[in-house]
Amino acid sequence: MTRTERQHYLEGGLAELACDSCAALVRVRKSSPQQTSVQWTTAAVRQCATELGALVPTCPGLRASIEHAVRTGRLDVP
Ligand SMILES: [Zn+2]
Repeated sequence: MTRTERQHYLEGGLAELACDSCAALVRVRKSSPQQTSVQWTTAAVRQCATELGALVPTCPGLRASIEHAVRTGRLDVP
């Protein structure tokens, strides 16, 4: 990914976040305190799927990682 693309993602409110349990790298955006959008890359889906043994679009570890990122201010919440 080029620097310009990365900045574009960040400007769009997306933050890169790695899952604490499977290390899958996803892009996360909080549109409200209750709403979280997660963008899965193909690699991240494969990595999480390997860990969970099934294609599950939400990983419990990732959910915890997102909550942690919100608490520590790594994710902006409007
Ligand atoms: Zn995970």
